[in-house]
Amino acid sequence: MVMPESGAQNMREDIHREFLGLLGWQGEELERFLPDWRRTADYLGLTDGDVRYAVAEGIPAHWDLTLAGVRKCIAACIREAAEAAKMGLYRQRGDPVLYSNMPAAPVCMYANKLAGGGRLHISHPDFIMATVLNAFFSKGCGEFSGAPCMNADCRHCGMNRLRADAGRNGRIAPPTITWNWGLHCNEAPKTEEMLRCIQGNEWNDVFITIPHDAPLGDREAEDEDRVDYLASEIRLGQEQVTACTGVAVEQEHLRRAMDEYIAYMRRVEVLTNLVVGADPQPLTGNELTLFGVCMEVSFDIGFSYIDDALDTVIEEVRGRIARGEGVLPKGAPKLACDFNPLNVPWVDGAFRENGVNLTLGRIFQPASSLSDLLGDDDLYRTIARQSLSDPNAVNMRDQVEIVTKLLRRYTINGVLYGFFAFDRWIGALQKTAIQIIEARTNIPHFYLEGDFWDADRYRPEEKMAVIRSICNCLKISGIA
Ligand code: SF4
Repeated sequence: MVMPESGAQNMREDIHREFLGLLGWQGEELERFLPDWRRTADYLGLTDGDVRYAVAEGIPAHWDLTLAGVRKCIAACIREAAEAAKMGLYRQRGDPVLYSNMPAAPVCMYANKLAGGGRLHISHPDFIMATVLNAFFSKGCGEFSGAPCMNADCRHCGMNRLRADAGRNGRIAPPTITWNWGLHCNEAPKTEEMLRCIQGNEWNDVFITIPHDAPLGDREAEDEDRVDYLASEIRLGQEQVTACTGVAVEQEHLRRAMDEYIAYMRRVEVLTNLVVGADPQPLTGNELTLFGVCMEVSFDIGFSYIDDALDTVIEEVRGRIARGEGVLPKGAPKLACDFNPLNVPWVDGAFRENGVNLTLGRIFQPASSLSDLLGDDDLYRTIARQSLSDPNAVNMRDQVEIVTKLLRRYTINGVLYGFFAFDRWIGALQKTAIQIIEARTNIPHFYLEGDFWDADRYRPEEKMAVIRSICNCLKISGIA
């Protein structure tokens, strides 16, 4: 039977309504957002079948939608993806658009948003695309073009590959300027340069970086010369951004952005302490990580949606703890996770099936430590100091000190590394660093090779033997 065109259209709309309904949209609000979501689905390259899969399998398999906080947090990611999909429209109407890569300093980007008073828009388009596709649709970063710029088999970072392809084929709209944060990610500026060479980008680009030349053991966040240097790099970067956008960023904008960021990070810390400290563990490792989505990026929609999601889930988690409810029985081992598991959600599921919780979300400075660095009058120096306290941005001995201190805050049974094998900086250092951290902390460290940006490049069956061995090791050692 051939369905009348209007009937087929209604069925197509129905699956998109169902998707939004699953995440908490209702009534008029749902109908108002539906056209935005349809544009976003096109932007992400999602078919109706992909959306149907997410509703029926992809989302329920990895995310506990009985928790309103989880629904709200996924919805916040969808709202931000919808903003990313509108960047071309914003430019057409004359608004400046500022992009950045991830990891970046969220305060700098968000200060531009605040200073623009609604006229300037910010986005980390490749990051939000990669996160939404991997976490909720089980689609990796490699599905964007038939002829990719960079060969995935050459171990390029999946998110940079996505940006190159989606930028080249016009899916990611050209910005006014890209602020490349090469301090952590040295592949991001190179990707930008490659795009310029291949297609002669017409947008502006500024990048800041600092050579990874600190002596081994230098406490980089306390090294005043280094802090000064990075602060002046950031200030100079901002001046170049302002020259293109016409939006001046003052200390008051940085201050407001910092306040909102720290308030968000405090919520993440409260949630982390509750989840990691509870036995049984009340949330999955995926879910805990999901709420940290804005640790190293800022959303154009601001912090309000994600803060609301956090407040909601914190109450729900307190309820679960009071009732003694967990995602695994009491006593199940906890394995802290160094990479961002929400992009490969099956990893968390595979560990849980074998009786082990992933935990901690990500090894990152908590708000209480970031707040200790707020003493400078010049916010650029504070941002520089905070950036230099990120364990993934500093020399290996400094990284060891920072991670050791972080791990000692919690009672955990092991730490899982890997999934960064392709990364020339983080991946190269961690294999050596984890041996020192393991010796210092006496916490067993494990390594699982992979690429966390590409959910579809690695399948559970390929990794199960290693995952089972890690789980057995944790149990046999009597730690459990
Ligand atoms: S994984 Fe490494 S190369 Fe990829 S975006 Fe992150 S820092 Fe850059």
